[in-house]
Amino acid sequence: MQHDTLSYPLEGVPAPGEAREVAEGVYWLRMPLPFALDHINLWLLRDGDGWTLVDTGYALDEVRDHWRAILADVVGDAPVHRVVVTHFHPDHVGLADWLCDELDAPLWMTAGEFFMANWVFHDGGIGDFARQDRFFRDHGLPDEKLVPLTRRGNPYRRGVPSLPGQYHRMREGDELRIGTRSWRVIVAHGHAPEHVSLYCEADRLLISGDQVLPKITTNIGVWHTEPEGDPLGCYLDSFARFTDLDPATRVLPSHGLVFEGLHARIHALRAHHEARLAEVLEACAAGPVTAADLLPVLFRRELDLHQLRFAMGEAIAHLSHLWHQGRLRREVGGDGVHRFHAT
Ligand SMILES: [Zn+2]
Repeated sequence: MQHDTLSYPLEGVPAPGEAREVAEGVYWLRMPLPFALDHINLWLLRDGDGWTLVDTGYALDEVRDHWRAILADVVGDAPVHRVVVTHFHPDHVGLADWLCDELDAPLWMTAGEFFMANWVFHDGGIGDFARQDRFFRDHGLPDEKLVPLTRRGNPYRRGVPSLPGQYHRMREGDELRIGTRSWRVIVAHGHAPEHVSLYCEADRLLISGDQVLPKITTNIGVWHTEPEGDPLGCYLDSFARFTDLDPATRVLPSHGLVFEGLHARIHALRAHHEARLAEVLEACAAGPVTAADLLPVLFRRELDLHQLRFAMGEAIAHLSHLWHQGRLRREVGGDGVHRFHAT
């Protein structure tokens, strides 16, 4: 069987409040999100006499209602043995505390994701708007664009109203026994500190989280909390942990459709970033540029304020990756602005 293109083996998508079986004992749930990205996929795994949940959804009343319907219809009185959360983003961890509490189930996360969630929840970084403004100004965003970015409260808590106070740690290479299957924990970096995917080799199933998505590219951004980071390098390097997976693997992603063609998709994601890096190098060859200068090069459309923040993070990530590789030089001017030059 050829896997140079993606295929989508299932018809349609589950309705909200429906659990659709996609492999024996593996159920696909699709929950609404209050963003342009309008849904997230969650997974319910049969686990002996009970269940394991993977990811929880953004804290909206309608998502809680869909969960109640699924718990009543599918889970019933069976125990939930664990709630696995792939990473700290609000659409994944948002209802973890509510579910762990309702179901009397432990939370399973990596240390990096659990502590990142707690740090952000308690205003670490995300509440430091002065530092965030300075960071974007240093990357060339003019003050009039910074002012509207000044926000109200801690936006993370809108999607994550509370967090469990304890967790069970997952680590790279752990094997999770879930019912009759063994799932290998694969930790990836770049999109989040210690993002988890789960791979069942025997049945060629990959719960990929946000690391591998079929249509959209995963957001990779540099933020003021780690201003000299190279998350794009981390993200691309992490694909090495997926290269030995069976080409016929069925991929269960957090957004979009269940698909086959894992290696073709990884190849396309690498090529996408290579093309963008080439565009950045070309722009820098014509003279020094800031991240803000790159926005019209990398994003050929109007950006709203929410998108502007992510676009800046992405632009800085591509510049920083080339700088870390020694393919660009960085100069910090007397105005504090970071300008990148061809070497
Ligand atoms: Zn995410």
